[in-house]
This record gives sequence, C-alpha cells and structure tokens, in this order.
Amino acid sequence: MYAGPSQKLKPFGESIFSEMTRLAVEHKAINLSQGFPDFDGPDWLKAAAIDAVRHGPNQYAPMTGQPALRQAIARKAERWYGMRYDPDTEISVFSGATEAIFSSINGLLEPGDEVILIEPYYDSYPACVAMAGGHCRYVALRGPSFDLDLAELVATITPRTRLLMLNTPNNPCGKVFSRPELEALARVVTAHDLLVITDEVYEHIVFDGQPHVPLATLPGMRERVLTISSTAKTFSMTGWKIGYVLGPASMVAAARSAHQFVTFCTVSPFQMAMAQAIDRIDDYAPELVREYDRRRQVLMAALQDTGLGVRSPQGAYFVLADIRPLGYDDDRAFCHQLATEVGVAAIPASAFYRHTDIGRHLVRFAFCKNEATLSAAGEKLLKLREKMQPCV
Ligand code: PMP
Ligand code: GLN
Repeated sequence: MYAGPSQKLKPFGESIFSEMTRLAVEHKAINLSQGFPDFDGPDWLKAAAIDAVRHGPNQYAPMTGQPALRQAIARKAERWYGMRYDPDTEISVFSGATEAIFSSINGLLEPGDEVILIEPYYDSYPACVAMAGGHCRYVALRGPSFDLDLAELVATITPRTRLLMLNTPNNPCGKVFSRPELEALARVVTAHDLLVITDEVYEHIVFDGQPHVPLATLPGMRERVLTISSTAKTFSMTGWKIGYVLGPASMVAAARSAHQFVTFCTVSPFQMAMAQAIDRIDDYAPELVREYDRRRQVLMAALQDTGLGVRSPQGAYFVLADIRPLGYDDDRAFCHQLATEVGVAAIPASAFYRHTDIGRHLVRFAFCKNEATLSAAGEKLLKLREKMQPCV
C-alpha cells in the first residue's frame, strides 16, 4: 500500500496558506491569512485578457515566454532600475514566482549544495531546496527591525554553500532592505563567491517613500544574481500565475532547463495582457502604493486597538503582530482560536521559520483586502480580549 509523499516532501506537510484558508472557509472567518486580494486587478487588464483569448494566442507560448511580455519586462527594468537585460537570453517567464523559484533552485543547485535561507523566509524555499537535493542553512533577522547580523551570516557559510535566498520586501515581516544593507550583503556574497536568488514579488508595494533597491543593481552583483518577480501582487491577479526572472544568461538558462520539464510554458493569452499592464506600470504603481498605504493604516489601527504589539511594515502587504502583550505565546493555537472563536483568520509566523521558537509569538495579518473587509475584521478583533482565553 502507498503511504504518503516521499521522504523529501513529507516534512513539509500541507502549506500553511491552504490550511488557514480552509479553516477560514469552514468557520466563515474573515480571511486575513492567505495573501490574495479580495478584489480584482483593473478592468482594462481584464479587457486585454478577454481580447487576447478572443483573438489569440491560445496555443503553447514559447518556452521562454511571449516575446511581447519579455520585451515589456526589459523596458520596465531599464526605466525603473537602470537594469539592462536581453529579453531573449536574460529574461524568462514562469507560471508564477512559485514556479520561478522552484525552477531556478532546481536549475542552479547540485545535490549536496548548501543554500542559506534568511528567517523568516517564504514557505516554498526549503521545500524547493529539498526537492533539488540541497541542504538549507539558516540565519535569522533579529530584533524589532529585523536586522541581518552579517557576522552570523558569515558564520553560516561553509565551503559547500552555493546560494543565498533573499526576499525584499519581505513576506511576512515587511522589511525592505536598504541600499547600505544590500551593499554589505553584496560584499559577503562576493567574498564567498555565492549565487543569489532575490525574490522581489512585492517590489511595487513599498511605503513611506523608501525605494526598492534590486540587489542586482549593485556593483558586481549582476553576474551572480537572479531576480524573481511576479505580476500577481502588482496587478492583483494572483490567479493568473505569471512570474518572471531576470539575470545573466547562464543563470536564466539554468532556470529554463528545469522550467521546460515542469510546465514547459505559461498560459499564453494572459501573458499578452500582462505585457500591456507592465507598459502602463509607471502610471499605475503610485496609485497602487496609495491604496495599500490606506489599507495598511486601517489594519494597523485595528490591531493597535486590540492591544497586540505591532510595527508598521515598510513594504509588502502583511503586518506581523506580537501576541505576547495579550498573554499568548503559541502562534498556532492563537490562530486556531482566532479563526474559530473570533472569526478572523491569520497565519502563524512560525511557518516562516526553521527555528520555530523565534516566530512562535508572531502572527501575520494580510491587508490585501478592501477597507470594508479590514474594518469588519477590526470590529471582530476588538472582541479578542473578552472572547479568547490565553492558550498558554
Ligand atoms: N514569493 C513570495 C515572497 C510570496 O509572498 C509569494 C506569494 N505571492 C510568492 C513568491 C509566489 O508568487 P506567485 O503567486 O507569483 O507564484
Ligand atoms: N504568497 C501568499 C502568502 O504569502 C500565498 C500563496 C500560496 O498560497 N502559495 O500568503
């Protein structure tokens, strides 16, 4: 009899996002757990997709992505960041950043290679490293401002370390790495001859005028950094699953070598629509930030009213709340009670840690929701103190 997934995958169980969304649905809780908007991207983008479905292309896209989309990505990278990439050899389209991460890690790693993950990390990274036959080593962001201790990072590197995964703006903690922080990181990366995958899917959701700095733009980084982004968050179309990578031809070719045997290519007509969207991003992005800033404020105010410990995130669309001021110290038990008794679903942050004790007092709330949804969640959260008994 077959008894469940392979040893490689068994430790990862079910994704926390599926688990918490299921709990939200079962208990009719307001879902601030899984990071998807409860609104759609713009109507003009839908119209462009409908037009592309009507008139084609509706057959397989090129394995590397629709040329129109790769060209739009190249133009945007140059306009926004001064990064110049050849759309034929240095840019490739994937079925979401999720597949880009999987294919990049699997294309780049040799079995036994070590990969450094910065805790808190996105949940798919360790699973992808395991599937590629690699080993993870961990370094945690510390303190209330989630600082990276470079000495700790250096101590984590061994002769077998091949790759570092960086996520800025960070899911779940909202940290946006500053230029000086990235410069310091770049020096370590160069000194130890590491490759880097930077996950920048929230590149356009950064607050308070702080710039998003792609690591690849720093001196010496272009030849060793693969930048991953996604249209899901920027255009509020998470279900379209269109992500992409930019990097030196050799690293992009490695990611393509896996991609051709995973999905081979990404959905054709939606790529054509996204090409138009990326060309409109200069006008679109400032409004996106303004809207998310308002939502951030609504959620922050609601969480502050509950007595949970919160800091405003610099980027992405999540707030990490400290549950200890209310007498709780187990994020999983807290989230379970929150969904079933208060009617709001959130994500236990320990899911983003290998050393789960570091994240056990933190819970992630998503604000990629209409202000009405966030306000309704805020009202329910006010009942937190009366309804819930500390689960310690
Ligand atoms: N990386 C991070 C940090 C994410 O939060 C997500 C979820 N959107 C992804 C990658 C996956 O992106 P996509 O939906 O494009 O697969
Ligand atoms: N990126 C989304 C989040 O962080 C989840 C995407 C997924 O469910 N895989 O919530």
